[in-house]
Amino acid sequence: MTVDEIEYDHRFDPPTEENLRKLELSREETAGLICRDIKCPICGYRIMRAYTTEGCVVAKCQRCKFNGIISLRWFRRQTPSFRNRRY
Ligand SMILES: [Zn+2]
Repeated sequence: MTVDEIEYDHRFDPPTEENLRKLELSREETAGLICRDIKCPICGYRIMRAYTTEGCVVAKCQRCKFNGIISLRWFRRQTPSFRNRRY
């Protein structure tokens, strides 16, 4: 992987060799996996995208400024059909 393949603001210094390698390994790990959106629990804004359902992250919403812990296990993408389902 080269620096040109990474999307970032090029006013910043390019990543180190080590970080570049980690980025490459990360990309390889996601091969064949499905990427899903993690949405803000307050306003529904997409705050990140994830490939796993395990682990917890601290998320920050750029729109409503929500800042909190999100367990990837419970915050799966909710499609409209899922939300409207009656139990
Ligand atoms: Zn939000």
